[in-house]
Amino acid sequence: MTNPYPLGLRLAGLRVVVVGGGAVATRRVPALLDAGADVLLVAPEISPALRAHADAGRLRWLPRRFAPDDLDGAWLVHVAVDDPAAAATVSAAAQQQRVFCVRADDRAAATAWTPAVTRHGPVTVGVLGGGDPRRAMTVRDAIRTLLHARQGTLLTDSVAQGAPVDTATGRVALVGAGPGDPELITLKGWRLLTEADVVVADRLVPGLLLDELRAGVELVDASKIPYGPSRTQDEINRILVDRALAGAFVVRLKGGDPYVFGRGGEELLACAAAGVPVTVVPGVTSSIAAPAAAGIPVTHRSVAHEFTVVSGHVAPDSPASLVRWDALATLRGTLVILMGLKNLPAIAATLLAHGRPADTPTAVVQEATTGAQRIVRSTLGAVAADVAAAQVRPPAVVVVGDVVGVLG
Ligand code: SAH
Repeated sequence: MTNPYPLGLRLAGLRVVVVGGGAVATRRVPALLDAGADVLLVAPEISPALRAHADAGRLRWLPRRFAPDDLDGAWLVHVAVDDPAAAATVSAAAQQQRVFCVRADDRAAATAWTPAVTRHGPVTVGVLGGGDPRRAMTVRDAIRTLLHARQGTLLTDSVAQGAPVDTATGRVALVGAGPGDPELITLKGWRLLTEADVVVADRLVPGLLLDELRAGVELVDASKIPYGPSRTQDEINRILVDRALAGAFVVRLKGGDPYVFGRGGEELLACAAAGVPVTVVPGVTSSIAAPAAAGIPVTHRSVAHEFTVVSGHVAPDSPASLVRWDALATLRGTLVILMGLKNLPAIAATLLAHGRPADTPTAVVQEATTGAQRIVRSTLGAVAADVAAAQVRPPAVVVVGDVVGVLG
């Protein structure tokens, strides 16, 4: 067998016919849509996922068997049917019309092969295994692992977001690092982290993520910046802006999600005021992940149809409080309190005083998703005493509601 000739097809607006509506077609179609192809799906029946694409107008579906003139105007055809005779009909029509034909059922009969693919931002790697798809996938997996581990050194200085980088000004990415387990950062967050010139990290950011930064990265530990809380934020904003204006790609790595009690909005505004472009990469927030790690779903059918996330860092009776604790006490859904340990006695008392029952199941999760995770299970009436007795320390999340214990 002769060697295939690799190509990157630029399919935007070009007709691609997919014959078949089962599992293979369901897997193939998203990448075609992502490439902007004008997809024509020909199959008497199609999977629910394909039907959703058709209903949304992302592709056109002909609900019948293939006919040779379905290939009129096509640049490429994918055959994703089990029936060899039907597939051969498509191949013959493709031959006739000089359209490349991918055959899921018979590689030898195909005129084009689809590679095993791994995508890393703007970089796409396709692997052909000489007709052996398992070999292609094994090699692809090895390359994917390599690129995940060493993206910074292999893929840098190009582009992170698809847009060309102006080397005169750098830019800033506000990246959510997730709640603690280093594997709970998003793929995009991880890629940007490995591409960074400067990383400004919070105290709550998983240390292992920083362990894997490429050599030469400037690491600024935001928790070590002296002065009071507001001065510290000004100083962080100044570092982000200064480094970016000097041409660096700055990743501001924040615990959980950047916009959940993370002051990400202030950093975005500071960058915007200085004309520095900013990307925000959402993160897995501890307000949902910490309960989940303790086996508590924040919603559960016929138990809780809402969850409310509140900061407890201001005491309920303080004039500075923006939280209507009296109103929260009347809700029956799940209440998740962040930064609430210090004020927990006052918070629990306020919720009880305004009507939340004392026997409401309550849990406190400390250092969730890390090796040091601890869970204290209690009730709203007893939680303040139980947390004090167990010497729970920050960071911890308090969960109030019937979802606590719903999974046992
Ligand atoms: N942006 C973060 C929250 C920052 S506020 C997020 O989305 O998760 C800091 C508070 O988050 C802590 O006081 C604590 O209440 C909570 N928190 C963060 N990480 C946590 C963890 N691993 N376990 C429990 N609580 C955590």
